[in-house]
Amino acid sequence: MPDQQAAAPAPVPAAGSAKTCPSSACGEGALLLGVMTSAGKLAYLNPPVPVDAEFAAREAERGSPERRYRFAGPCLEGGCPQWTGRGCAIADMSAGPVNLGLPASPRRLPTCSIRHSCRWYFQRGPAACAVCPLIVADMGGTETYLSVQAEAYAHDQDAG
Ligand code: SF4
Repeated sequence: MPDQQAAAPAPVPAAGSAKTCPSSACGEGALLLGVMTSAGKLAYLNPPVPVDAEFAAREAERGSPERRYRFAGPCLEGGCPQWTGRGCAIADMSAGPVNLGLPASPRRLPTCSIRHSCRWYFQRGPAACAVCPLIVADMGGTETYLSVQAEAYAHDQDAG
């Protein structure tokens, strides 16, 4: 299965429509969006796999499942510490004006089945998808985020 699809203009969901967080915490009922590979890039699952209680418990026991996987779930808006009052700070930080040196309009986007409702895509369009595979939550869902590979990429760009 190809893991890339052609970029399309960002759709504009109806105001007030529910959004999906593409970096939610692991828990029963969440969707397993992808697996972080040893290369530090997310391998998206299409379609995402619902997380059951057994998987959630096993991964919680291993510790910090959000370091190994990305999960999708409802965007909590004001119930999330990343909410700025107007949107998701992670989307703004990763795909904002200083976007780690990645292209704002990539020619190809990851094949991703939550794009129609994705919070990050709604805020930043294709620029969010450009950096999305490199983002990993290091503390569990909504605490803090790392993007080691993206930082390394930006460093290489600076050094070059
Ligand atoms: S930012 Fe793009 S690739 Fe990432 S989850 Fe959202 S729609 Fe999918």
